[in-house]
Amino acid sequence: MKRNVYNYFSLFTILLFVLGIFNILFAWLGFLCMITPFIILVRQKKNKWCQNYCPRANLFSVLFTKTKTRKTPNWLKKPWVKTFFVYYFVINLFILIWSTFLVSQQFMNAMEAVRFMIAFRIPWQLPQFIHIPNISPWAVHLSFRIYSMMFSTTVIGLLLGFLYRPRTWCTVCPVMTISNKYLKVK
Ligand code: SF4
Repeated sequence: MKRNVYNYFSLFTILLFVLGIFNILFAWLGFLCMITPFIILVRQKKNKWCQNYCPRANLFSVLFTKTKTRKTPNWLKKPWVKTFFVYYFVINLFILIWSTFLVSQQFMNAMEAVRFMIAFRIPWQLPQFIHIPNISPWAVHLSFRIYSMMFSTTVIGLLLGFLYRPRTWCTVCPVMTISNKYLKVK
């Protein structure tokens, strides 16, 4: 595939993860990847985000386009797999909001760790080279939860991109499933 200008958007994904190593508050940039697709969808009635802008999909394209590709397996196209990831996305968002609320009310401590698919704690700490004073625990907690969400889906996407076609993750990505449903209804 010819490299196009949108491929440079992939740098945003790398930047997000690298900046999170310096200070986890940068993970809030991940909100842009969660909210912008739906803003564009509602305003333009087209899924321009997935077609062009998505930094993650562009990263997969940049990394894997030149590698040998195998067809996306049929099981990955099954509706229940897509539904599973939509539920994962919704449950993740709920946990993110609810646990941040609990931390803000001092009902629980901030979870200062990256988790894969909510359940698995990554066995290393992000160094946090930049110290920002007086950050509320809820803000730190929220940052780690956003970073974990982005980390989990990017790792799965990289794995699928490596095994099959570069953008195989898009087959099951909740943003695509929700966007398609929205456009169908419209
Ligand atoms: S389906 Fe998901 S990963 Fe693929 S382009 Fe859309 S938002 Fe990005």
